[in-house]
Amino acid sequence: MAAETAELPYRARPGSLADLLGAGQKSYSFEFFPPKTEGGERTLWHAIRRIEPFAPSFISVTYGAGGSSRDRTVEVTKRIAAETTLRPVAHLTAVGHSVAELRHIIGQYADAGIRDVLALRGDPPGDPRGEWTAHPEGLRHAHELVSLVRELGEFSVGVAAFPERHPRSSDWDSDIRHFVAKCRAGADYAITQMFFRVDDYLRLRDRVAAAGCDTPIIPEIMPATDVRQIRRFAELSNASFPDELAQHLDAARDDPSAGYRIGVDHATAMAERLLAEGAPGLHYITLNRSTATLEIHQNLGLSQPRQLAAAHH
Ligand code: FAD
Repeated sequence: MAAETAELPYRARPGSLADLLGAGQKSYSFEFFPPKTEGGERTLWHAIRRIEPFAPSFISVTYGAGGSSRDRTVEVTKRIAAETTLRPVAHLTAVGHSVAELRHIIGQYADAGIRDVLALRGDPPGDPRGEWTAHPEGLRHAHELVSLVRELGEFSVGVAAFPERHPRSSDWDSDIRHFVAKCRAGADYAITQMFFRVDDYLRLRDRVAAAGCDTPIIPEIMPATDVRQIRRFAELSNASFPDELAQHLDAARDDPSAGYRIGVDHATAMAERLLAEGAPGLHYITLNRSTATLEIHQNLGLSQPRQLAAAHH
């Protein structure tokens, strides 16, 4: 595999994400989830192959709430490492795992040459907003997972950040204190929860900076193209949905192409402002489709697709 990939015309993977961000380069990335069906698998790989020529800094794969979806996260992440030129970032949560199990999963990634983990606590299974209970032999908070991943090898580690603060945090002071603890435990960067008001991101960044922490915080971009779906996501992740955007989308409720346009234009405008305000990059939520996020990325004029070796398709 090494000889084969060495012949590719470009590689998106050299260096670490920590180096890239530390050198002040912008990071552009796309997020996927592990599909449940064969059809879903085909959709995912179609999207990955469309995004690949844009040479993003990384693509990430979310970690399921439990059961077989977790194995699929590991499989998809390994396949990205083995069969594409892309750098995969594996999301990993502490939910339902003993420390021994977490070590085993991290070991599997290390064996597959994967060096990037997004270390998360996760949410209580069943009710994401319910009371969090740690596994009796597991970890309680994300900062412990950051330390564990760090301890196990030369990994670049990311963590979660919340522009409207974590829904279970009682106040901003404790929220920022715990966020900074994750960074001090060895996080190289953070990626935010979805949000729809740029000022929320800017205020979070200011609060973190005021606490003496300069870990780059990459904003997540979620194109709001489908009003029903986006309302559900926003509710689950506690993201406020601006009235004006909701009204525009509601008005286009029966016209999917108009809804698509509104969502892409709003996300493009957000992304432009975030970059102008000095955000260290953008992390696009794809929902395993590439059209909307690639259109936003191209609207920003940031990168043109490159030609991949024919043998690679
Ligand atoms: P933590 O940093 O542990 O924080 C959780 C809460 O505990 C916060 O209120 C925090 O202030 C508090 N806290 C932290 N440390 C302490 C302490 N020492 N003492 C007391 N309180 C403390 N979930 C998935 O299941 N799979 C995924 O793939 C996934 N990907 C995500 C990607 C991104 C970019 C984001 C933003 C979230 C993602 N999530 C995912 C959701 C995430 O798991 C939940 O939001 C979870 O509730 C918080 O995780 P965390 O890593 O921020 O936890």
